[in-house]
Amino acid sequence: RWFDVFAFRIGNPAEHKVALLFSDITQRKQVEQALREADARKDEFLATLAHELRNPLAPISNGLAILRHAEAGSAVGVRARELMERQLAHMVRLVDDLLDVSRVSRGKVELRKATVALGALVEAALETSRPLLDAAGHRLELALPAEPVLLDADATRLSQVLSNLLNNAAKYTREGGHVRLAARCLPQRRVSIAVSDNGIGIPPQMLDKVFDLFTQVGAALERSQGGLGIGLSLARRLVEMHGGHISAASDGAGRGSTFTVELPTL
Ligand code: ADP
Repeated sequence: RWFDVFAFRIGNPAEHKVALLFSDITQRKQVEQALREADARKDEFLATLAHELRNPLAPISNGLAILRHAEAGSAVGVRARELMERQLAHMVRLVDDLLDVSRVSRGKVELRKATVALGALVEAALETSRPLLDAAGHRLELALPAEPVLLDADATRLSQVLSNLLNNAAKYTREGGHVRLAARCLPQRRVSIAVSDNGIGIPPQMLDKVFDLFTQVGAALERSQGGLGIGLSLARRLVEMHGGHISAASDGAGRGSTFTVELPTL
């Protein structure tokens, strides 16, 4: 704890009496510390954002230069176009995530709930994430309950959460890794969906922090994987809006990570 200490001379000076006043300022210190951390995160985030938006621009401008000289329909022209499309799609995803996070924080996102099967959510998530998993040569294992599991949920949002976890598993695992999505029914009409990988892992002190907005493990410029540190914070908010809970576990650096989403079912 933190204290401010004031010393007062009291009584008759000849008695040499001193009173000490202790004032507990722990809470103020904690608030100051939190503000300092938020400020540092904001600076780091701006650097990351600039970096992430700047990165795709060089390949796009190279692609344009190639297209200017390539013959229509030539193989090199087609490759340049595909490369530019991939980079643009990446930028669009980044900007969409940014817009989403600001909408969710301002309470501007309303869930469009309907009855949806867990299997359909997983399928939709895989449609988005499969290219990333395949590109990294990861083996994907699925384990879903045999019986159908129904949820009252916003299918788009929840599959976005799952694909986010799958994308992270793909990003933070060395090539040729193992990614597993396993769901099981829990008592009291709940289901748990765990996405695990055998990737770089998360240090224990960061397990809860990774859900904070703009928080990334490791310094921005040393990171080999792109991203803005938004996905998990968005995932936590969306899961909580569904009355669920998300948590992270890891056996530490190099030992892989598991993200578990728990949701109410019908
Ligand atoms: P981003 O991936 O864009 O940085 P996220 O909010 O999705 O942002 O994740 C926050 C941070 O959590 C990541 O930067 C990464 O350091 C860490 N992280 C997330 N998923 C994993 C994972 N499966 N394995 C290891 N680290 C992870």
